[in-house]
Amino acid sequence: MQTVNGVIIRDRKVGDNDKAVTVLTREIGLIDITVRGAMKITSKSSSSIQLFMYSKLCINESKGRYYLDSAEPVNVFYNIRLDVEKFALASYFSELITYSVLFGQPCDIITRLLLNTLYFLDNGKLSHRILKPIFELRFISELGHLPALLGCCQCNCYEHEKMYFNLYDGKLTCGDCSKVGEIENIIKLSPDILNAVRYISLIDYKKLYNIRLPDNLRAELSEITENYVSVQLGKRFKTLDFYKTIISQ
Ligand SMILES: [Zn+2]
Repeated sequence: MQTVNGVIIRDRKVGDNDKAVTVLTREIGLIDITVRGAMKITSKSSSSIQLFMYSKLCINESKGRYYLDSAEPVNVFYNIRLDVEKFALASYFSELITYSVLFGQPCDIITRLLLNTLYFLDNGKLSHRILKPIFELRFISELGHLPALLGCCQCNCYEHEKMYFNLYDGKLTCGDCSKVGEIENIIKLSPDILNAVRYISLIDYKKLYNIRLPDNLRAELSEITENYVSVQLGKRFKTLDFYKTIISQ
């Protein structure tokens, strides 16, 4: 028996009585846990394995599979469960993780990133509109797709009134060096947006959520980060489309 602390990010029914949950844990990364008799239990354990709960889980391993013995809640993100926009965004974060994080590999930073983002999403201290680009860009950077943001990839200049970002290779090219129009998926970054992209990708983790960005630039940043994630992972996420449908209403 071992104890892990993790966020429930996916759940599905298995057979008539059982349930399987996917959990991002601090200790052993992403795992699937089978909960026998989940449809019957009405104890503390059953509420601890609901979506977006952060719980302490006692598990047994048998033949490479994990089975739940008992669970207790550590942090209940009530507001995420009650708010459709927040729930939709958390579902998108979950899909990003289940799609791209390897099972059974410790990933403490990604667990921290998810937990802290859910914390601010739940208490509303930061808008979901800024939490989305923060999570997307930091997540994809931690996953090994850190953009090359230190300067123009050809002349190394740090700032330029026109700076272009390539979504395929994550490189910057300044207005003097670029031949815009030749390649698709090149986006012009204004100085404010470039600063935000640098901040989110490179800042010390403790200061990540201190980012200040004028409200009118959030949508632009958000579009860039979601496209960068989509191009890097080679996938369009249905949960993202759903989130966007909801917030546009
Ligand atoms: Zn240049």
